[in-house]
Amino acid sequence: MKKRTSKKKTVTSQKIQVVKSLKTTLHGGHALRTGKEVVDRSLLGKSPDKSQKISLGKKKPNQYTGHTFKNKSERFRLDGHKLLHHLDRVLDWQRNKRIAPIHIDMGLTKFCNMGCVYCMGVAQGMVKGALIKRDALMRFIDDCGRLKVRSIAFIGDGEPTLNPAMYDAVVRAKKRNIDVGIATNGLLLRMDRAHDLLKNATFIRFNLSAGDKKGFARIHQVSEKSFDVLIDKIRNFAKIKKENNYKCTLGIQMILLPENFDQVLKLAKLGVKLGVDYFQIKQCSDTEYGEIGVDHAAYKKAQGILKKAEKYSNDSYLVRVKWSKININEETQLYKNGFRKYDICYGTPFLGQVSGNGKVYPCGPFFGKERFCMGDIHKKSYYGIVQSAKYWKVHKDIAENIDVHCDCTVGCRQDYINKFLWDIKNPPEHINFI
Ligand code: SF4
Repeated sequence: MKKRTSKKKTVTSQKIQVVKSLKTTLHGGHALRTGKEVVDRSLLGKSPDKSQKISLGKKKPNQYTGHTFKNKSERFRLDGHKLLHHLDRVLDWQRNKRIAPIHIDMGLTKFCNMGCVYCMGVAQGMVKGALIKRDALMRFIDDCGRLKVRSIAFIGDGEPTLNPAMYDAVVRAKKRNIDVGIATNGLLLRMDRAHDLLKNATFIRFNLSAGDKKGFARIHQVSEKSFDVLIDKIRNFAKIKKENNYKCTLGIQMILLPENFDQVLKLAKLGVKLGVDYFQIKQCSDTEYGEIGVDHAAYKKAQGILKKAEKYSNDSYLVRVKWSKININEETQLYKNGFRKYDICYGTPFLGQVSGNGKVYPCGPFFGKERFCMGDIHKKSYYGIVQSAKYWKVHKDIAENIDVHCDCTVGCRQDYINKFLWDIKNPPEHINFI
């Protein structure tokens, strides 16, 4: 085939510039409809012309000058799931093996030192003084290690710092090779154990839904001066983390309600000042009976300030709105009024939940419903519970008898993974044509 050097720079109708050093060639088979010269692709990348480095916005095709990385990598997948990174267990589940949870959300108490207006724990039944006893908690952590549970979050239903064993449980979990996270209102955090937490926990998330004293007292139902106490603690945790180069992620989570729309931007700014890694804004969950009275449609009015808040993000601080849950009412007809995009809840064996009184359930919204109680870690080892017939009977009951469209809370914890698992269980035709 006869090669010839192009004198023209323009080779396509989109006026894409061909680098000078590249030759063009006549097509050896049949003529192009346009009759235009064809780039000799065999020469591409052989003699990189550095002067022709592609700049953003002026991309030329197939020049191989290296990645441009226009898509910023997502540091935390706050609005989604990570099951794709645990396909070994997904595969076992597909083969009908009895799997251990990858992750467990766990309450350490069933009471709290605050009275937040949005509290789901109240609907699940708070019991003053009820907590998981130290021995049972430590045995539970050891069992999770044996079962190869990969992470535990001390995240509900009561305030975890009210359980004095929490600090040792965090240290123990790390020793058993389990990642551990904490969600706390932060007021009672022990500063003398700050190093233990920052050294061993993957994340500490402060539940803070107001950015000034007045808002704090109104939303969290505590004194205004508690706001200063908390801010001081968060600031000190961030300082200790920085000084010691601890990897623990520090975040703030706001539960959004019309009552605190005015606090969104204040909190976004406060997060920058405090030196935390992220500020997350989440919808308020409600029970299946609507006891908290969340009006999802009201979130529409907050769209502007939420978008503004996200602009406070910078390289070391992420502001993230959980849009997929905030916008639940804006979704397709299928998702409206609590209807979900799947019909069966398959997620419970992957994501276990333990109430702050030690009882094991398939999911948080079913805490207190005896039909779904799988056991109590005070009475039986968690290892034994996961092996028991009762445990698997409850998972089966969930999959076979629960109508996710009306028996469940909107956007529950397992919602993201349920969509993924539903797709796996219900493949379309022609799956090999990926
Ligand atoms: S879909 Fe229903 S059963 Fe499944 S975890 Fe959510 S609330 Fe529980």
